[in-house]
Amino acid sequence: MTNEAWGQVREELIKRVGKNNYTTWIEPLKLSDLKNGVARFEVPTIFFGDWVQRNYADHIRTQLASTGATVDRIEFAVGTAPVVARPVAAAARPAAKASRPRAADEELPGAPLDARFTFDSFVVGKPNELAHAAARRVAEGGPVTFNPLFLYGGVGLGKTHLMHAIAHELQARRPELRVLYLSAEQFMYRFVQALRDRQVMDFKELFRSVDVLMVDDVQFIAGKDSTQEEFFHTFNALVDANKQIVISADRAPGEIKDLEDRIKSRLQCGLVVDLHPTDYELRLGILQQKVDFYRSQYKGLVLAAGVLEFLAHRITTNVRVLEGALTRLFAFASLVGREITLDLAQDCLADILRSSDRKLSIEEIQRKVAEHYNIRLSDMIGPKRLRNIARPRQVAMYLSKQLTPRSLPEIGRRFGGRDHTTIMHGVRKIEELMTIDSQLADDLQLLRRLLQG
Ligand code: ADP
Ligand code: MG
Repeated sequence: MTNEAWGQVREELIKRVGKNNYTTWIEPLKLSDLKNGVARFEVPTIFFGDWVQRNYADHIRTQLASTGATVDRIEFAVGTAPVVARPVAAAARPAAKASRPRAADEELPGAPLDARFTFDSFVVGKPNELAHAAARRVAEGGPVTFNPLFLYGGVGLGKTHLMHAIAHELQARRPELRVLYLSAEQFMYRFVQALRDRQVMDFKELFRSVDVLMVDDVQFIAGKDSTQEEFFHTFNALVDANKQIVISADRAPGEIKDLEDRIKSRLQCGLVVDLHPTDYELRLGILQQKVDFYRSQYKGLVLAAGVLEFLAHRITTNVRVLEGALTRLFAFASLVGREITLDLAQDCLADILRSSDRKLSIEEIQRKVAEHYNIRLSDMIGPKRLRNIARPRQVAMYLSKQLTPRSLPEIGRRFGGRDHTTIMHGVRKIEELMTIDSQLADDLQLLRRLLQG
């Protein structure tokens, strides 16, 4: 079973990680054992095992699991000594240079590219059209016109997708170019390894020998001084040699704290483009594209009109969440054999819909509670201690604690500068009363519903 499963998995892994990565990192692995949810592999060196653990363990696990095996964990051993994968500091030095993987010189093991992240599957809309156009330009592999290309934007807006798309496109159009994609975290990790193994020269050589360098999530190296230093030198060397660099981050260069000024200014020298938060049209476009895929996966499922529009309207946080919602919806509908209607979507995605709801403010809570109890809004924050005013005020305090992420002192400030102990007392009072006062319990339930829509 073991070897048979591994054979199938290896086939599949070529597709996932690409031929080069496969030959360098997967082919040399020997599956020695698979039982009790643990898959054990023999590796040539500790460094090797560590690298595979960090970069390919998830792929391997997923693929093994898809053959029906139970795999909770993957372990690597050199001979009989297990590899300690994390943290970096725990990894020992590889035994001898000769036994290191064929990494440094002839191959360029970057992070695996996601085969789905192509230009074809990237939906272009107003919020990302500039970033998309710039990425396309770089992917042509023509003369370098701006360096670096700096892409930034919030989580899940497509930075990684665009970078992988550039790499795929370059591999297809200009196979002779050496393209290296990796995250800033991996850059640091490899640098630390090189220091530890006294192979900094190899490291420098490798990074200076690429034609296109792509570093994802560069904000990660902020505050990591020696990594920044090395990154700066690598960056300069490549720019001087007129090699293309593509960088992504979660914010603009100038806004990355603890990043050296000289690096910030070099990052700003090229083209800095941001991916804006998605708009309704873009979200709908992405959903429509995904649906075409799901239709082919789940044949015969009926999607009622208006469902996609509803999702695009309600789930505004990020594309990853949007995709997750759709995946769940289709899986659920096919499982229960029902048509995908608005009702089904609301049921099945209740948690996602709730958490992407617009944030409730303390002021809105105060207003609704004041309305409900027929008191003036100013009395919410005023000093009156009469029961018919103090009680609704406590209800508003309680709901503010329950329905917003605000702390007690913050809530106190919004209630006319009251002390946090006063708020705590109010919250406790309501908690106590609602168990014995059914009218109050009903009020709370109604208010909650009104406030949460
Ligand atoms: P980031 O790196 O900015 O956090 P990702 O590139 O990982 O975001 O994107 C998150 C998910 O959303 C991925 O599955 C990606 O394919 C998808 N995605 C983001 N933007 C788009 C888009 N414009 N078209 C299609 N898919 C997108
Ligand atoms: Mg990313």
